[in-house]
Amino acid sequence: MTDGTGRIIDYLRVSVTDRCNLRCVYCMPPRGVEPVPHREMLTLEEIGTICGAAARLGVTRVKLTGGEPLVRKGCPRLVEMLKAIPGIREVTMTTNGILLPRMLGELTAAGLDGVNISLDTLDPVRYKALTRYPLEGDAREAIHAALGAGLRVKVNCVPIREHNDRDLEELAALARDRQLDVRFIELMPVGMGAALTPIPGEEVRQRLEAAFGPMEPYQGVPRGNGPAVYYSLPGFTGKIGFISAVSHRFCGDCNRVRLTSTGFLKLCLHYSDGVPLRELVRSGAGEEELARVMAKAIRDKPLHHDFGGKESAGWDRHIMSQIGG
Ligand code: SAM
Ligand code: SF4
Repeated sequence: MTDGTGRIIDYLRVSVTDRCNLRCVYCMPPRGVEPVPHREMLTLEEIGTICGAAARLGVTRVKLTGGEPLVRKGCPRLVEMLKAIPGIREVTMTTNGILLPRMLGELTAAGLDGVNISLDTLDPVRYKALTRYPLEGDAREAIHAALGAGLRVKVNCVPIREHNDRDLEELAALARDRQLDVRFIELMPVGMGAALTPIPGEEVRQRLEAAFGPMEPYQGVPRGNGPAVYYSLPGFTGKIGFISAVSHRFCGDCNRVRLTSTGFLKLCLHYSDGVPLRELVRSGAGEEELARVMAKAIRDKPLHHDFGGKESAGWDRHIMSQIGG
């Protein structure tokens, strides 16, 4: 479907939990947040029904996120349910990778199409400082295992001044000999992220050119669900992507809405606008009725985010692990 300004909405990010097994400094406070009680979270079946309604509206791709999606019991079953919905062509996941190796068999059998693995540094000491857990080896293993299982793999890194400045070239080099893309996501001033300093995408690009040679814009078949701009580096197998939401606002091409783990259909990352669907689905509403309510809300999707703006009315105060990125 299209929103009120004609943008085609065909991509849904579904947060399956607000819980996480890491505490990344830009996403979660050290002790985490009070978890949403289980009864307030959508069941897997309720998520399935809402995704069925979304498919009726033209959503073709779903990304499972969180918190950490793999800490939610039944994630592979959810993948299988979503893949069975007519119209859903692709189900992917963004994960920190810690639980991925042990769940890969079930996830690939369920039909998972790809994974984005979040990894901000390959240095064990800085990984522990960034995530507050000494699990860098597990995240590396996740990349290896996902490639081995034949999944499409992207590695996502958020460059942050004084945290992983020194690690960006080494992370990019993962794409040199491996069939994966490495993407640099500009830190957004959401939750804990607001207190840290982003390294702008352009600076990262210049540094990678200095290290590896000139970048060529990639113009082949689309590689993802949205706003990343991809480049080729000399001798590299995979591509390097940049998602620079703050320095290059790309809201005019926004193609997505979000579903939180409590069943709120969220229209823009930055604003609290949206519509609660949980009680509706619990009251027995079917896909058709849900689709009607969702379509009405999507028509009013905000025009653009206002990161860096001064007018704070309507801003969402949730932290990223509650929104799903
Ligand atoms: N736990 C999973 C993971 O880390 O991939 C999924 C949820 S996480 C909230 C989704 C993505 O959001 C991750 O790639 C993470 O790096 C990114 N993220 C979290 N806080 C952010 C921020 N303030 N700015 C930009 N990206 C952020
Ligand atoms: Fe957890 Fe992902 Fe947030 Fe890190 S970025 S704390 S892994 S939800």
